[in-house]
Amino acid sequence: MKPVNGPPPPIPIVAATEEVALYEIRKKIYPRVVHGWFATWRWSLIFATQLVFYGLPWLTWNGRQAVLFDLGARKFYIFGLVFWPQDVIYLTVLLILAALSLFLFTTVAGRLWCGYACPQTVYTEIFTWIERKIEGDRLARIRLDAAPLTLEKFVIKALKHSAWFAVALWTGYTFVGYFSPIRQFGIDAITWRLGPWEAFWMLFYGFATWGNAGFMREQVCKYMCPYARFQSVMFDKDTLVITYDRPRGEPRGSRRKGVVPRELGLGDCVDCNVCVQVCPTGIDIRNGLQYECIGCAACIDGCNQVMDKMGYAPGLIRYTTQNALARGYDSRTMWRRVFRVRTLVYSAVLLALIAITALSLATRNPLKVDILRDRGALAREAAPGVIENVYRMQIMNTDETPRRFTVEASGVPGLAVQGVEQPVSLGAAQSRMFAVRLTAPSPEDDTDEQKPRGQDDERRANTRNIEFTIRAVDDDKVVRHEKSTFIFPR
Ligand code: SF4
Ligand code: SF4
Repeated sequence: MKPVNGPPPPIPIVAATEEVALYEIRKKIYPRVVHGWFATWRWSLIFATQLVFYGLPWLTWNGRQAVLFDLGARKFYIFGLVFWPQDVIYLTVLLILAALSLFLFTTVAGRLWCGYACPQTVYTEIFTWIERKIEGDRLARIRLDAAPLTLEKFVIKALKHSAWFAVALWTGYTFVGYFSPIRQFGIDAITWRLGPWEAFWMLFYGFATWGNAGFMREQVCKYMCPYARFQSVMFDKDTLVITYDRPRGEPRGSRRKGVVPRELGLGDCVDCNVCVQVCPTGIDIRNGLQYECIGCAACIDGCNQVMDKMGYAPGLIRYTTQNALARGYDSRTMWRRVFRVRTLVYSAVLLALIAITALSLATRNPLKVDILRDRGALAREAAPGVIENVYRMQIMNTDETPRRFTVEASGVPGLAVQGVEQPVSLGAAQSRMFAVRLTAPSPEDDTDEQKPRGQDDERRANTRNIEFTIRAVDDDKVVRHEKSTFIFPR
C-alpha cells in the first residue's frame, strides 16, 4: 500500500537535452562522370547556350555592337532593332513569354530548365568538367581531398582554381560586355582604365560564378532557388518525371552477370549505387521524387550503362508519368496524355503571343513622339489678337537610317507652328527635344463645337483640342498623330 503522508517523490531530472541542428551539415558531393544520351543532350545545350552567351557581344551590325544594352543612353540594340524606354511593353512581353515557356516545359516534363539550361547547372557542369580534368574522377577527388597537404596537392588545387578563376573572370567580362561596348571595355581592362562600375560588375559577376559553380553547387538549387520550391504545383500525374521503376527494380541486390534475377527472387536493380554516385545533388532517386532532384537525367544514363553491362533492358530509371506507372500505360498512351488540354492551351497561348509580338516588331513604327505642354511658359498673347502656346516636343528616330520630319498642327482655325526649323533632321537611332510654339488668332466666339466635354466651365470656355502630325519626309507611312490642347487665356 502507498504511504498517504510523507515527502513527495523526487521529480525526475532530464540529464541532457538532445540538440537538433536547424541546418543540415553539407556533405561534399563528388559526382562521377557519366556518358549517355541525356549527357550528350545536356552538353549540346551547354555548348549552344554558351556559344550564344560568349559570342553575341562580339558580333557587329551596321558598324556597331549587334547586341548592346546601353543603359547610359537608355537604348537597347538587338541587331536591327533599337528599343527605347517607351518600348518597355516588349520587356513585359518577354517576361510573360519566359514565364509561359517555363509553365509549359514544366507541365510537360518537369524541371527541364533546371536540368539542361539553367546557368547554375551549366556552369556547375563546366566547373566540374575542369575539376575532373585536373583532379581526376570521383574516387581520385575523394582521395585527394582526404590526403594531407603536400606540394603536389597544392599545385593541383592551385591549377584548378586558376582555371576556374579564368572562366569566372571571362564570364564576368562577357556579362559587362552586354552593357558596355565589349571591345573598348577589353582595351580599358588591359590598360587598367576601367570605370568603377564596370570593374565592380565584372568582378562581382565573376566572383558569383566562381562561388556558385565551384563551391555552392547543389546548395543553390536546394536552398536558394525559389523555382525549386514552387515547381511541384505545376506537376500533375501526367507530367513526365525521372522515376525509378520500383516494381521492376525491387527487391534490389547484387548478383553475377548472366543469372536470371527472378530465379534469385531479385528485381533488376543490382544495388550498385551508380545512380547515386552520378547525381549532382547526391540523392537516391530510388527513394522516389524529391525536391532536390533537378531533373538532369544523369541517373538515367548511369543506370542504363549498368543495365547494358548486365544485359538487361534499359529504362529501370526513366522519364515516365505517375499515371503511366500506376495504370501501366504503353508509351503511345502516355505521350498522348502528356500532350493534354493543359499543355495544348499553354502552347496555343505561347504561339499566339510569339506571333503577335513578331508581327508588332515587324510593323513597328520607327518614329516615336512625346509632347508635353511647357509648364514654364503659359498661354499668352504674343501680339494683338494672336495667342501663343509653348510645348516640349521629343522626336525619336528608332531607325538605323537618318531621317527628316515635318511638324504640323491642326484643330484651331489659323493654327501655325513657329520656332521650328523644318524639316527636323535626326541621325540614326537619335532623339531630339525642342520647344514648339503654336500661334492662333484669338477666337471671336467661345461657343466653338470642339470644346472638350466633361471639364469645368472655365476650362471648357478656353481650351481647344488640337492634333500634332509628325511625318517623315521620305516615307508617308512613317507618321505620328499626337493629341494635345491649345489654351486661349481670358
Ligand atoms: S536524381 Fe537523377 S535526375 Fe535527379 S538530380 Fe539526381 S541524377 Fe539528376
Ligand atoms: S544505377 Fe540502376 S541498378 Fe544501380 S543502384 Fe541505381 S537503380 Fe539500381
